[in-house]
Amino acid sequence: MREFKKSSKLDHVCYDIRGPVMDEANRMIADGVDIMKLNIGNPAPFGFRAPQAVIDAMAGQLTETEGYSDSRGLPSARRAILEYARKKGLPNVGMDDIYTGNGVSELITLSMQGLLDNGDEVLVPSPDYPLWTASVTLAGGKAVYYICDEQSDWNPDIEDMRRKITPRTKGIVVINPNNPTGALYPKELLEQIVELAREHELILFADEIYDRLCMDGQEHVALASLAPDLLTVCMNGLSKSHLLAGYRCGWMCLAGRKDHVKGYIEGINLLSSMRLCSNVPAQSLIPAALDNLESTNEMLVPGGRVYEQREIITGLLNDIPGMSAVKPKAAFYIFPKIDSKRFNITDDETFVLDFLKSKHVLLTAGSGFHWNQPDHFRIVYLPEAAQLRDACGRLADFLKDYRQAP
Ligand code: PLP
Repeated sequence: MREFKKSSKLDHVCYDIRGPVMDEANRMIADGVDIMKLNIGNPAPFGFRAPQAVIDAMAGQLTETEGYSDSRGLPSARRAILEYARKKGLPNVGMDDIYTGNGVSELITLSMQGLLDNGDEVLVPSPDYPLWTASVTLAGGKAVYYICDEQSDWNPDIEDMRRKITPRTKGIVVINPNNPTGALYPKELLEQIVELAREHELILFADEIYDRLCMDGQEHVALASLAPDLLTVCMNGLSKSHLLAGYRCGWMCLAGRKDHVKGYIEGINLLSSMRLCSNVPAQSLIPAALDNLESTNEMLVPGGRVYEQREIITGLLNDIPGMSAVKPKAAFYIFPKIDSKRFNITDDETFVLDFLKSKHVLLTAGSGFHWNQPDHFRIVYLPEAAQLRDACGRLADFLKDYRQAP
C-alpha cells in the first residue's frame, strides 16, 4: 500500500510535552498501573468544578446557540470581553478587534499563521508554554529564545531579549503570569519590554490566560495597557480561571495602534472566517463568567485550595536535598531545579521517565518547555494536599540513591 507520512511542515515542530514520557505513562495505565498525574494543567480531574452560575448560563442558551455565529464571535460574548478589556486598560479595542476561539490554543496558532513568512523570527521565552514554539515553527517561523532568570524570580532577562533581536524579528511573546514558572512580572519590567518593542517596531503577543489567578494580593498589569502606540495581540480565556478547560473557550483582542498592521489583520480575518466560528455554546457563557470572578478569587487566598497547595508544594520541594524551587506568584505550576551534578542527570527526560517507572508519578521535563539544561521539571500542583505530600515523599525517596547512568 502507498505509505502516508506526516506533513514535512511538521518536521521541525517541537511539542515535546506530549512525547515519549506520556507514551510510557499511557502504556503503564493500560497495564493497570495507577499513575499520579502532575503533568497537565487541567483542573477538572482534581475536583475543581466550574462555577454553577456559568454552567447554568450555558445550559439555558443551548437551543439558541445551535447555529454558527459571526466568525469573530457572538456580540454578547464580545461585549463582555470588551468590558473586561476596558477594566484591564487595554487601549483602542472595539468590538471588531475581538475574536473568540476554541481555547487560546487555536488563536495562538492563528495569530502566527496570519503573520509569519518562512524564516521570520519571534522572541519566545525559555522556558515557554510550548504551543508558542510549535505555532511559530508551523507557520514557517523560527522561535528565538530569551532567558527567564530563575535568580530573579524567573523574570525575563531584558538584555538577553535585546541581544536576540535581528532584522527578521517580528514580535515578542510575553507569557504573564507564566506557565511553567508561575512568575508574575512587575510593571517596570513590562515597561522595559514595551520600550524594546517600540525601539525595534515589533508586535507584542501577550498570553495572559492566567491573569485572574494571581496570589498574595498582587495585581496583574496587562502588557497592552503600557503600549498604546504599538499593536499588542492579547490572549485570554476561561480554561483556567473558570476551571472549564474542556469547553474550549478563549479570546484574542487586538489592542493599541493598528494603522500599520492592516495586512496582518486581513490575514487574521481570513483565517478566522476559514474556521467559520468558535464553539458557540462556549462563547455564550462568557458574559456570565466574566461577571463571576468570586469563585476564582476564593481559590487564591489563604484557606483556598490553590493557595494552600502552593504553600505545601513549595515547602516540600525545598526540603528535598538537591532540590530548590522559586515560590510561584500565580497560576498553578512550579518549576523546580534539581542539582544535575549531584544526581548525574544529563537527560531530564530520562530522569522523568525513570521516576515514572519507579514511583508512578508523572512530571514534565524542563526540556518540554524549551529549557536548555537538564536540570528542571514542572509540577502542576492542582491535586489535593495529601497527594502532593505523597508525590514529594516518593520523589525524596527516589532521589536517595538515584544516579543517572552516564
Ligand atoms: N497559554 C498558556 C500559557 C497555557 O498554559 C495554556 C494551557 O495550558 C494555553 C495558553 C491554552 O489554553 P486553552 O485551554 O485556552 O487553549
